[in-house]
Amino acid sequence: RAMELGGGSYEFYTEEMSKAAAEHVHLGSSLSKSLEREELIVCYQPQLELPSGRIIGMEALLRWRHPELGLISPASFIPLAEETGLIVSIGEWVLRTACQQTKEWQDRGFADLRVAVNLSARQFQQEDLVLMVDRVLGKTGLPPQSLELEITESIAMNDENRVITTMHQLKRLGVRLAIDDFGTGYSSLSYLSRFPLNNLKIDQSFIQNVVNQDDDAAITKAIVSLAKALGLQVTAEGVETKEQLAFLEQLQCNKIQGYYVSKPLFAEEFEQFLQKRESAQ
Ligand code: C2E
Ligand code: MG
Ligand code: MG
Ligand code: MG
Repeated sequence: RAMELGGGSYEFYTEEMSKAAAEHVHLGSSLSKSLEREELIVCYQPQLELPSGRIIGMEALLRWRHPELGLISPASFIPLAEETGLIVSIGEWVLRTACQQTKEWQDRGFADLRVAVNLSARQFQQEDLVLMVDRVLGKTGLPPQSLELEITESIAMNDENRVITTMHQLKRLGVRLAIDDFGTGYSSLSYLSRFPLNNLKIDQSFIQNVVNQDDDAAITKAIVSLAKALGLQVTAEGVETKEQLAFLEQLQCNKIQGYYVSKPLFAEEFEQFLQKRESAQ
């Protein structure tokens, strides 16, 4: 694009680029200190089971409270954390925090609560991932079956035998495995029969127009029947309206997550949310 605009713009373009690169580096160095400075926060988004309407768990979602920039969403710093390798230590911290918190809530009477934690492809490649998960479960006392690990289709592009071995080791610990953002990756569907999975999460881009676009409705229907045929559970992400909920109920989708139920909440807010729901039932 810069070439088309001519020389002057080209200079402008490179200047912009180096500015972006400088900000990137700056964000990178402060990201590396975010853990020790206790600027990272785990939020929890409720997951609702169908047709019971019960809150059966939540997804742990990371936030960064930057001293100057305020609350930063993971979309703008997870890629940086992956590039720099910081995702390994940050990811372990998220897992520990989420497991500890969930165990606390279980002990306070929400015994069936389950937590879903996102794992990046980079974490999945770590030799000691299984040991790390085992250690966190041991330390926090969370029952393994209360933990679901979310991975994306992109990991299917790595050494497949290694991926499958790691997944089986995780399954042997007793944790559940889910594919996140299902339907948006470029990998072939054949991995579905080879990976030991429990759950498919339909990407929110399909749910967004599921009520008014035939194509998205057809894709969503197909994913739900594919999941059922393979003996997997299916979760719809990004549910914002009661019409979308009704559509998914009709398809017998197992779980929904989205602003219609609640946005991601700080831990104290999530606990209040649970208590309110309980006293309303
Ligand atoms: P994700 O795992 O697919 O998480 C769902 C995202 O959708 C979250 O964005 C959530 O806030 C948002 N969302 C939930 N309900 C709705 C809705 O009804 N409408 C709309 N428009 N959006 C909704 P968030 O929290 O910004 O996270 C973005 C992504 O960052 C996550 O996508 C996940 O891939 C990644 N991420 C978040 N936390 C972690 C983490 O601890 N580790 C790693 N590796 N990745 C994380
Ligand atoms: Mg997720
Ligand atoms: Mg997702
Ligand atoms: Mg996503």
